[in-house]
Amino acid sequence: MTENIIIIGSGPAGLTAAIYAARANQSPLVITGREIGGQIATTDQVENYPGFPDGVTGPELVELMQKQAQRFGARIETDFVTEVNLKTHPFQLKTETGNAYAAKSLIVTTGASPRKLNVPGEKEFLGRGVSYCATCDGFFFRGKEIAVVGGGDSALQEGLFLTKFASRVHIIHRRDQLRAQPILQARARENPKVNFVWNAVVREIKGNGKVETLVLENTQTHARSKLPAQGIFVYIGHTPNTDLFKGQLEMNEEGYLKVDARLHTNVPGVFAAGEAHDHVFRQAVVSAGYGCMAEMEAEKFLAQVASGG
Ligand SMILES: Cc1cc2nc3c(=O)[nH]c(=O)nc-3n(C[C@H](O)[C@H](O)[C@H](O)COP(=O)(O)OP(=O)(O)OC[C@H]3O[C@@H](n4cnc5c(N)ncnc54)[C@H](O)[C@@H]3O)c2cc1C
Repeated sequence: MTENIIIIGSGPAGLTAAIYAARANQSPLVITGREIGGQIATTDQVENYPGFPDGVTGPELVELMQKQAQRFGARIETDFVTEVNLKTHPFQLKTETGNAYAAKSLIVTTGASPRKLNVPGEKEFLGRGVSYCATCDGFFFRGKEIAVVGGGDSALQEGLFLTKFASRVHIIHRRDQLRAQPILQARARENPKVNFVWNAVVREIKGNGKVETLVLENTQTHARSKLPAQGIFVYIGHTPNTDLFKGQLEMNEEGYLKVDARLHTNVPGVFAAGEAHDHVFRQAVVSAGYGCMAEMEAEKFLAQVASGG
């Protein structure tokens, strides 16, 4: 069976594309990735997504989007695409559970993953003090002293969330100024549990079975110091999840997919939406908007194919 539209990914871009495709009677198939929801599902409070004046949790927002897509007939499969062949049409896909699919059009919404620190101890202590998801793991740090690395919106937002559990949250930033929105900066500065460690980078994570100490380096003086912490949450940027398309879709040096103003990739019938190509805005509402655009273009493509054009 050849699908009309396969959407790879289930973040705000993928689920919005699914809502539009389902309402257009395309009966889209969403291949979610290993978990549904993408990055927004890993945050506790979303206060800037329109339509939720009192905020909404990330998992709730995802659940609502999923329901909305399914209501109009979107099919949602939890699976991970491991191989694509975009040189033939219909396009061919394989997944890690051994399924194979063919599709007339593809919407790539594979988004991005948290960038790693790449320091000794990071891999070793993953799940034993090292985390990239405060909503998932914050609870385990009740009464503990922890560190958050980064100076952007995510670092501050998640650092503030972690103050609900931790006795102290050290925000380690490599500069002496934050990039985060002023409202988050003000909240962090006012929170008595937050301590800023300026001009510092993490060089090593040490412990015995679990995280106990961070070795920091001052970016100005290069002096090293130790910070006792039982947890470290890393928010230092992202890497696009686009390895799957190497050699088939054009991308920049960092791996972000190249698209035109209408989200067409270099392969006709393959569209990209969200953080797989957008490294500038990085907001759920923006990815959702791109999901809508890509789907509308996919419909035009399908109409052309159907008319033999
Ligand atoms: C901690 C945190 C807090 C945030 N808070 C906010 C906020 O308050 N407001 C806001 O607007 N934005 C927030 N963001 C940003 C927002 O989450 C992202 O902008 C948005 O999720 C990007 O959506 P996306 O659909 O483009 O990609 P992603 O959310 O990255 O989703 C990508 C999807 O693709 C899937 N995938 C990847 N590879 C494959 C594959 N090979 N096969 C199948 N599926 C695959 C993944 O599993 C995932 O479902 C936050 C982000 C983080 C990390």
